Amino acid sequence: MARKMLIDGEVNQSNEQESHYDFDLFVIGAGSGGVRASRFSANYGAKVAICELPFHPISSEVVGGVGGTCVLRGCVPKKILVYGASFGGDIEDARNYGWEINEKVEFNWKKLLQKKTDEITRLNGIYKRLLSNAGVKLLEGEGKVVGPNEVEVTQLDGTKLSYSAKHILISTGNRAQRPNIPGQELAITSDEALSLEDMPKRAVVLGGGYIAVEFASIWRGMGATVDLVFRKELPLRGFDDEMRAVVARNLEGRGINLHPRTTLTQLIKTENGIKVSTDHGEEFLADVVLFATGRAPYTKRLNLETAGVELDSTGAIKVDEYSRTNIPSIWAVGDVTNRMNLTPVALMEGTCFAKTVFGGQPCKPDYRDVPSAVFSIPPLSVVGLSEEQAIEQAKNDILVFTSTFNPMKNTISGRQEKTVMKLVVDAETDKVLGASMCGPDAPEIIQGIAVALKCGATKAQLDSTVGIHPSTAEEFVTMRSLTRRITAGSKPKTSL
Ligand code: NDP
Repeated sequence: MARKMLIDGEVNQSNEQESHYDFDLFVIGAGSGGVRASRFSANYGAKVAICELPFHPISSEVVGGVGGTCVLRGCVPKKILVYGASFGGDIEDARNYGWEINEKVEFNWKKLLQKKTDEITRLNGIYKRLLSNAGVKLLEGEGKVVGPNEVEVTQLDGTKLSYSAKHILISTGNRAQRPNIPGQELAITSDEALSLEDMPKRAVVLGGGYIAVEFASIWRGMGATVDLVFRKELPLRGFDDEMRAVVARNLEGRGINLHPRTTLTQLIKTENGIKVSTDHGEEFLADVVLFATGRAPYTKRLNLETAGVELDSTGAIKVDEYSRTNIPSIWAVGDVTNRMNLTPVALMEGTCFAKTVFGGQPCKPDYRDVPSAVFSIPPLSVVGLSEEQAIEQAKNDILVFTSTFNPMKNTISGRQEKTVMKLVVDAETDKVLGASMCGPDAPEIIQGIAVALKCGATKAQLDSTVGIHPSTAEEFVTMRSLTRRITAGSKPKTSL
């Protein structure tokens, strides 16, 4: 029997009181957060069931599958395509390193697609095994809440099964949103983009977020003509403005056509492709139009209103610091709560949930210094505060150190693309508040810097760290000249 939750003054119940439930924990949604929470809860001794729709490796109609968005329809297949696309640039770079590429180099999309499908199918199997090895019962079907301790699972054949549970955890993630543009049914979302039968030769991407710049990079890297259309002056709203400008420059440098301050007004099917019109009067013909315009929490089929679970204005499930909803027996983790929509954050929330509820160790997820990466080519990676956030939050002056340089590899390859690194430091305490990098291997490097920030590293400690030479990463420990000092109380420039 599971250990009991000890937060909010709750007292342990007796084993007899719990035994009338089918499960200690019923989890709806087997993505990153749900799988983590159920496995860890089972490891603490809880009797756990999890429900999820079956996985279909090709169809984007069926959005289920153990592993969830990250493994089956997000981070993992996307990164495989980013790797695939990166070889295009690498082959160009190789020529000055002495590689004679005499025959025509061709890219076989179908081959990569098959490899990607094989890999995510393998991962789906691994995730199922992780659950069964932990003793978690997997129920294939769509779950909904029918009461504070009751769940109904509808199987694909329509059979409905009811279960009771002491705790219910909702981890159903989010789904792509589509703006209401005439002809929007002709556009695809990232779900379909990961399984296109043919590689698009001409792609139009709407949006300036993670998904938009990543797919623009993928298709451009594979040789397509790509038009990236976004509403702001620069892509990647919310990131450091200076780094956003670097990403925009790099995307353009790699041959992507940028259309800032632009949106789409209409899509029309023609014999030659989809005719796309913009509010600036431009028209493009495209094989594929991708809407990468954000994702919304997936709550609508969960019957939450019946159970009285409160949602916020975005439709996300409202939770407290322990991931508990307003109904004490119902909890939620991951993107469905719209806190910080990143896989490792959902894992953290799932871990904290299990520790709190079944591990006897109340645990709040810690959202400070969460690193992240945009897998554009080259990638952007950040941790901590952007310059704008630091200025906004600062009590003291802010010191900004930047370094823009030609990475060593480019000196021979001839690629005209600078790597940019940035540190934002509190002038009074010398604490490093934020770090960012745009250039090859940025996510690999920033992960290490994130550890330093989490430990409260000062700029002096970074400076006293010996570099690895020759490497790009060593620049983070040799940024000695101050780029600018911003006086406390200054207003950040309006974010673009
Ligand atoms: P984002 O929220 O990152 O970006 C949405 C983009 O769509 C913004 O540029 C926004 O513009 C634009 N947009 C929204 N509505 C419209 C509209 N009606 N017309 C035109 N443009 C519009 O969403 P994504 O879809 O890129 O990603 C979804 C989530 O997935 C993110 O929260 C992210 O955390 C996660 N993710 C993480 C990845 C990673 O860690 N590498 C990779 C992919 C996704 P504006 O800025 O003007 O509002």
